[in-house]
Amino acid sequence: TDIQPLQLVDRSVSFEDIGGLSQYIDALKEMVFFPLLYPDLFASNHITPPRGVLLCGPPGTGKTLIARALASAASKAGQKVSFYMRKGADVLSKWVGEAERQLKLLFEEAQRNQPSIIFFDEIDGLAPVRSSRQEQTHNSIVSTLLALMDGLDSRGKVVLLGATNRVDAIDGALRRPGRFDREFNFPLPGCEARAEILDIHSRKWKHPPSNELKLELAASCVGYCGADLKALCTEAVIRAFRDKYPQVYTSDDKFVIDVDSVRVEKYHFVEAMS
Ligand code: ATP
Repeated sequence: TDIQPLQLVDRSVSFEDIGGLSQYIDALKEMVFFPLLYPDLFASNHITPPRGVLLCGPPGTGKTLIARALASAASKAGQKVSFYMRKGADVLSKWVGEAERQLKLLFEEAQRNQPSIIFFDEIDGLAPVRSSRQEQTHNSIVSTLLALMDGLDSRGKVVLLGATNRVDAIDGALRRPGRFDREFNFPLPGCEARAEILDIHSRKWKHPPSNELKLELAASCVGYCGADLKALCTEAVIRAFRDKYPQVYTSDDKFVIDVDSVRVEKYHFVEAMS
């Protein structure tokens, strides 16, 4: 088969690396672990396990991170769990019918290697709202995906995860019971969550910032997502490097990073490096 190789579960990603989303983690674990690891619980009570979970929210809020952590934790909790990750638009192909074929192969492989998680990142790119105006191929991909989801054995150990920034752009049929029947809306982090995320991305420094500094920074970073906070921490370390190794920088400042991308200029974690 010419399907892309199985995505290895990255065991280094754990729930400890995720800040400010603890209220989602337990609920998500239930939805993913129970059907994967304890399917008999559902069968013996004559209920159908949840089939798919949609993670919705602005970019950089940890949706991909949480999917990876779930796969890694599921593997640690019990038997080996196969993890397949696909980016929505990457599945599309210029060859008519090729995307549908790849999807079929993917579902077959996931069932063969169950328990499995199939994660569609940016699923809006793969399964946009169907319309007569839209290209026929796109509509056909959505129909194929729906048929494949419906075709999964209700007792099979395959869980689907999807992530999107634009939940309204996804075909509504995908959000019906038996398909992506659960949704989680990830918000931008609040102040406390921002402090937690700053802590996660700076706690392994030689001289991590004090709690006061993290709280002060968190309070001033209104509107930052997790990815922005990570970038801020990276920038802070680069600045500390810059102070310590000025010889790296040429006089015309060729190597200086564009700090606009970080947006907060006034803070330096100069203590980052000894
Ligand atoms: P996109 O919609 O752009 O794919 P996303 O919600 O999937 O965004 P991630 O890819 O999970 O976001 O986040 C990007 C990076 O930002 C992560 O690898 C992580 O380092 C950092 N990050 C985001 N959210 C958090 C968080 N809640 N805690 C810790 N780090 C975070």
